[in-house]
Amino acid sequence: MSQRKSPKKSVKHVPPNDWQDVWDGIVEMRKSKNAPVDLIGASSSADRNAPPKVQRFQYLVGLMLSSLTKDANTNQAIQNLRSVGLTVDKMRELTEDEIDTHIKGVGFHKTKAKNIKKVADILHEKYDDDTPPTYEEVILLPGVGPKMGHLFIQLSTGQAQGIGVDVHVHRIANRLKWANSTTPEGTRVQLESWLPHDKWMEINELVVGFGQTQCPAQNPKCDTCLISKICPSSALGKQKRTRSSKTEKKKPKRAVKSRKRAKDSSSDDPSDDYESNFLDSDDDRVVAEDSEPDDEND
Ligand code: SF4
Repeated sequence: MSQRKSPKKSVKHVPPNDWQDVWDGIVEMRKSKNAPVDLIGASSSADRNAPPKVQRFQYLVGLMLSSLTKDANTNQAIQNLRSVGLTVDKMRELTEDEIDTHIKGVGFHKTKAKNIKKVADILHEKYDDDTPPTYEEVILLPGVGPKMGHLFIQLSTGQAQGIGVDVHVHRIANRLKWANSTTPEGTRVQLESWLPHDKWMEINELVVGFGQTQCPAQNPKCDTCLISKICPSSALGKQKRTRSSKTEKKKPKRAVKSRKRAKDSSSDDPSDDYESNFLDSDDDRVVAEDSEPDDEND
């Protein structure tokens, strides 16, 4: 099992004075709870009637399946696995190919099938078929990175040890000047330096849904946004519309490449792509706004 880097950087970021007004505006726009993340996000992965440790395993598998995958496809894969029994025992019993058959719709399904099986073995051997109790331990599991680790701890314990920053949270935090970073991991560190702890549980679902419905990577709907008067990036909607009308139907190169890769090959490794491109705090490669698919999780 490879040891993941644990970012130690502590960067104090000073947010705009009116961040609370911006937050309240987003809460207002999210009241209808009509984003994919509200209906079929990670919190719906577990069978609420299952024993607690089975639910924790199901949350973990749901998060592992969700990287570079639309919520609807993740949800379908979870339902498929639950129909045969999404437990540590069952995943140990199935072959990689059998697991793969049930999760074909998700990005990097072959690698994820391999990782789910490895994780089930580790949980059986080290944790009595339960999941690790701490963030530090959960991110040592294959295919589990910092974002998944923080979201898993939140889902499984009801407490936040850190903020789960995916491409939506990363993009929007930087648009709002809540952070100034080229990587999701840098954004996480900066957000955690100032955002009150009682908001750490809420921010991921709040902002992911806002990104899915109002402020996507391409063509943010600034003209109907309640916070457009105080958003530092409110000119983006106009710029994006002008640009996209000129380049109509052209797919951004990286998004196309990412989708091609997500169709899977046995050599694809989401932890190589996802972790090193998006989550390594020492990696200053920019996640270009145009490169982000609007409806996928990182
Ligand atoms: S970029 Fe546009 S849609 Fe996004 S928060 Fe700012 S005003 Fe709203």
